Amino acid sequence: MRIPLDRQSLIPLYKQIENYLRDNILSGSLEADTRLPATRAMAKDLGVSRITVQNAYMDLESEGLIYNREGSGAYVMPALSLPKRGVKSETAWPLWQQDLKTDVLSPRFSPQVLNPSHPDLIAFTGVGDPQHFPLRDFYKALQTVIRTEGIDALVYGEFDGGYPPLRETIAHVLASQGIQADPGQVLITSGSQQALSLVCQVLLKPGDAIVVEDPTYNFALELFRSLDFKIVGVPVDKGGMQVELLESLLQQRHPSLIYTIPNFQNPTGACLSGVRRRQLVALADCYDVPILEDDFAGDLRYDGRAQPALKALDTVGNVIYVGTFSKMLMPGLRIGYLVADGPVFDALVDCKRVHDLTTSNLLQRTLNVYVSVGRYQSHLRRSSRIYRQRRDAMLDAIREHLPEDVLVYPPDGGLFIWMRLPGGLSATDLLSLALQKGVSYAPGAWFTLDPQDGERYLRLNFATQPLERIRKGIRRLGAALRRCMVPQV
Ligand code: PMP
Repeated sequence: MRIPLDRQSLIPLYKQIENYLRDNILSGSLEADTRLPATRAMAKDLGVSRITVQNAYMDLESEGLIYNREGSGAYVMPALSLPKRGVKSETAWPLWQQDLKTDVLSPRFSPQVLNPSHPDLIAFTGVGDPQHFPLRDFYKALQTVIRTEGIDALVYGEFDGGYPPLRETIAHVLASQGIQADPGQVLITSGSQQALSLVCQVLLKPGDAIVVEDPTYNFALELFRSLDFKIVGVPVDKGGMQVELLESLLQQRHPSLIYTIPNFQNPTGACLSGVRRRQLVALADCYDVPILEDDFAGDLRYDGRAQPALKALDTVGNVIYVGTFSKMLMPGLRIGYLVADGPVFDALVDCKRVHDLTTSNLLQRTLNVYVSVGRYQSHLRRSSRIYRQRRDAMLDAIREHLPEDVLVYPPDGGLFIWMRLPGGLSATDLLSLALQKGVSYAPGAWFTLDPQDGERYLRLNFATQPLERIRKGIRRLGAALRRCMVPQV
């Protein structure tokens, strides 16, 4: 029997033999009543001591996977008496598995939205439209990197902040948006989600308070919950976080961080007003609280004038700015970044290295080739034009096909329209009907601190579907709504 053994591994050889045999027995590759090689023969075959093989056999026997026939050797146990993979009863798992806390993330998500069964589902969820990913240009950039940079692109890459030319490119892009960032203060991360996670790990510990907009980005909420933070919500209106309510919270709850999405907030689409931006930065400075500024879609603006980033208003090093290439380019790149000043930057770099060494070197280099030739700006212009038409089409379709008492909050940019249903209707309940009709959205309860507060709301992503499907999807939503509104007898 040929069992691959890794002699450099920290897993003892007898365990490797045991694991290999177990896998083969449980998968059925080693059939019931197959005779295993005698320990002496197996030891000779594998170049290990006989006791090593005996230890492996003893463990498998005590698990009930093999049995010994007097004088004849070890045999695979018949299938009926074997424990089956994946169908263990709960108490059959090792104790550490039984005690594992697994309910942190799941209850807020309706699996139907993530795994819908409708054959022609119009999903108003997700981020940008995959049909507009710059596939060909990105492919060429990838080829260029492999051809010209070869092996250099396939080793780990820099551990102290990321690929330097990409950090420079990001600093240039940010400068064009009014944020002066030294490339040395840019840390490339695996998506901006990792940037959020790193900041939390460096600045907070379980039990610490964090201020967020209520509602806010659901996966940020899940991150904060999973780390056992006390989450303090500040309501949002058309002008973003109601910063007027913040000061008393800072005095009473002593948060360790303020998390905010000032541009085209997820999920409401609201933009923080210029006045509130200045107030927020001043308050954070006065109460010595860092701000985590999540600018996930700030460059997707269709109307109005851009407001300065909080980072651009910060003169003391209080704001940690986070950006991503997921919304404008492609989420599958998993490339985001943060900009931070002062000692916290080094702490974030260390934390990143400890947790995943580096972000893909190959993809950082490819992205840099793609972005630095100016295609990013033209792709941005094109995406903005298309998404703006889609936003308008969705708003028109809502006016045409949904009841008048549905309230919408038209955004100046970004990806989302936030909607309030007429009194008494629950977006969570409506979702099953909507899915039957072939349309999906994100129910508001995903985004609010108290799910009850979000029940009347839903978030529609207008960017992922072409115009015709937007109209069709909203018609379907209208039909689902009307069914929901019919008084039940
Ligand atoms: N922030 C916000 C507000 C988001 O909506 C998302 C993703 N939907 C992220 C951060 C994380 O994005 P990524 O990790 O893909 O950069």
